[in-house]
Amino acid sequence: MIQAPKGTYDVLPEDVERRRVLTGHAERILGAAGYRRIETPAFESTELFARGVGEATDIVQKEMYSFDDGGGRSLTLRPEGTAPVCRAYIEHGMHKLPQPVKLWYLSSFFRAENPQKGRYRQFWQVGAEVIGSGSPETDAELIVLLAELLEAMGVRAARLRIASLGQPETRGAYREELTAYLRAHENELSAEVRARIDLNPMRAFDASDPGTQAVMANAPKLLDRLAPEDAEHFAQVRGLLNCADIAYELDPTLVRGLDYYTRTVFEFTSDALGAQSGVGGGGRYDRLIEQLGGQPTPGIGWAAGLERILLAAPELPVAADVVDLLVTVADRDSRDAFQAAFVVSREARRAGLAAQLELTGRSLKSALKHADRIQARYVAIVNDGEQTSLKDMSSGEQKELATGAVIAAILRGHSL
Ligand code: AMP
Repeated sequence: MIQAPKGTYDVLPEDVERRRVLTGHAERILGAAGYRRIETPAFESTELFARGVGEATDIVQKEMYSFDDGGGRSLTLRPEGTAPVCRAYIEHGMHKLPQPVKLWYLSSFFRAENPQKGRYRQFWQVGAEVIGSGSPETDAELIVLLAELLEAMGVRAARLRIASLGQPETRGAYREELTAYLRAHENELSAEVRARIDLNPMRAFDASDPGTQAVMANAPKLLDRLAPEDAEHFAQVRGLLNCADIAYELDPTLVRGLDYYTRTVFEFTSDALGAQSGVGGGGRYDRLIEQLGGQPTPGIGWAAGLERILLAAPELPVAADVVDLLVTVADRDSRDAFQAAFVVSREARRAGLAAQLELTGRSLKSALKHADRIQARYVAIVNDGEQTSLKDMSSGEQKELATGAVIAAILRGHSL
């Protein structure tokens, strides 16, 4: 048996309804705030992600599905949505539009990660980006919109953490300071943290051993090293979140896995999820457009995982599909009856009814059972081209009609 590749999954018809609810909320919430939907291609030049996401990130180092297009060009299945949206902004000259340009997307993404619950190799994200505004109101608006989406979906136990990463120069200097601090306390750190001092000193903040934790309690924090303009921007964002009654935790150790962030970063997690607790997050990327070849233009965005939202949201009562009419034949040997049934089902749909044609050739008795199972309101039993019995499934009443009168009878809501 051929199975779907590891880390991928099928969206079966019964799964579609919950996804549609999520799409509907995203459309409503983001649309009302003036965000317009964009879709970019599933693959892009590898260079876009190398330059945009950052050569040194886990995503670019280990997680990209890259391939040769046959003509010597390297393409990559998109691992994230921000770099492609920025590419599209530049490519389509969107800087000429009234600024900022507010966009949202709902697309699939691909990362060669170790699959587990909530972590897949093909997954879906709903995301929003605002390009062309550096104001703190933009940061706060985006956070509020994601909070609204999670609330509308009933995501349980959601927590918001925020921080500011300042500018890359500040970050570079801070990294050196932290590395020197860790070196000075090397003997008190766990072996694991010690081994990673140069590679990723920030990881030391996540360590669980008491020795490292004691050292980290007094470690310098990036938030205390921000340049005055960045600190002011962050203070304004926090003030706006307070005005909007959005609860958050300041997390000086919040680092996101992409290089392009500047200033505000944020992440929603849900305690209802297991190890993969991140529901959605994002941040400001004021240098990215320029890095990709555009004019210096500030930007900010977020992405939230569809699967994670659905895992953290309560089950929805699933509404049964509406079936107004099932069309079948009385005599399975009558070609005329089949033709007439075919026409009735087609015309019923053109008249706006949810009408299904009985396609298996099952007996009348078993077709009626099937109608019960799919909760059809009416069954039309075409006797021959001319005559049809219309059965009201709720009352059990049956009436003989001219075949051509069946649809009108249903539309009139005829009690037979
Ligand atoms: P990131 O850009 O990595 O912060 O991802 C944003 C959101 O996408 C995360 O908070 C998750 O909800 C979701 N996500 C990221 N990677 C995966 C994955 N491999 N499988 C499922 N969801 C993911």
